[in-house]
Amino acid sequence: AKVLVTGANGFLAVHVVETFLEHGYSVRGTIRSQEKGVYLHKLFSSYGDKFETVIVKDITQEGAFDEAVKGVDAIAHTASPFHYEADDPNELIVPAINGTRGILKSAHKSTTIKRIVILSSTAAIGNTPDSEKVYTEEDWNDAAIDAVEKHGKGASGGEKYSASKTLAEKAAWDWYNDNKASVKWDLTTINPPYLFGPTIHEIGKLEDLNTSSELLYKQAVKNTSSSPDLGKSIASYVDVRDVALANVLALEKEAAGGERILVSAAPFTWQDLIDVARKVGPSIGLNDLPKGYTGYDALKVAHEHVFSNKKLKNILGLDPIPLESTIKDSLSDFKNRGWL
Ligand code: NDP
Repeated sequence: AKVLVTGANGFLAVHVVETFLEHGYSVRGTIRSQEKGVYLHKLFSSYGDKFETVIVKDITQEGAFDEAVKGVDAIAHTASPFHYEADDPNELIVPAINGTRGILKSAHKSTTIKRIVILSSTAAIGNTPDSEKVYTEEDWNDAAIDAVEKHGKGASGGEKYSASKTLAEKAAWDWYNDNKASVKWDLTTINPPYLFGPTIHEIGKLEDLNTSSELLYKQAVKNTSSSPDLGKSIASYVDVRDVALANVLALEKEAAGGERILVSAAPFTWQDLIDVARKVGPSIGLNDLPKGYTGYDALKVAHEHVFSNKKLKNILGLDPIPLESTIKDSLSDFKNRGWL
């Protein structure tokens, strides 16, 4: 079977491509320019013609994916901007919505596609801190949409990004529900929190590191602060390789059709990551990683961003990679790249 992976050069997407190839699939990856394919073709050269790339210059244009979807059996749509630096919220919202709706429209008339998996986020579920709540797939982050409607450019970076993911996922389900009588495929969304784990994509320099890996690097690996704030509830995380595997499982498990599926390992504080890094660091020659806040007591943290793992376990049957492996493999990667 052949899978189309959009935004194939991204942090997550290169893992997605690799995992599909490892599971015997052929992969066609979309990239914005020829240059972005050079590294990928080298990385996946052992797979021969089972890996190919196609240029989709601008995912916001009508019909952008018309050629790319031809003859594939499934789609994993991951291309979407993820950063907190946008001034105008539409920098994020327009490509998020148009890219998502565009891939569905281009797939509309396909007779070969059986399922489309869209990479959404916990940002589309909810990120208002609430220590009493376990967020589930029933939840929608309307608060982010409201914040951007109310404050426009004045909304926070997180609100703008979260609004883009919520609006894009809503656009997907709305389009699907309006058109499901005339399509031959069904739809699944995967909703992960922060992705950590080794990077295998092309990164020119440290400054170009993707957003979630950059946070891990700056807040947990290189952070020289000793503030008690490091012990505060931040968010949840999952290993990037688990989300790549979730894309494969979401295509293979019949029961995933029509579902939103949270793919989250556990909530964390920066100090949790700092402590794990100090524990596993010496095994790979990293003996003086920062200590952070030494008065920390992990048992006293009231986590405020907790996500249900029921569907992850019951539908996908996925058991998350332990945090120690995630952090150890991230540290090795940073070290191999000369950043540690
Ligand atoms: P990256 O920034 O590494 O990858 C983003 C990908 O999307 C790149 O291929 C990029 O192409 C493409 N892209 C971004 N903006 C546009 C645009 N305007 N037009 C066309 N393509 C675009 O991010 P991640 O790998 O972290 O994110 C991948 C997906 O996972 C996104 O949908 C993100 O929202 C989602 N996600 C990520 C999480 C994380 O913690 N990393 C958590 C939850 C969800 P190019 O390189 O050419 O710019």
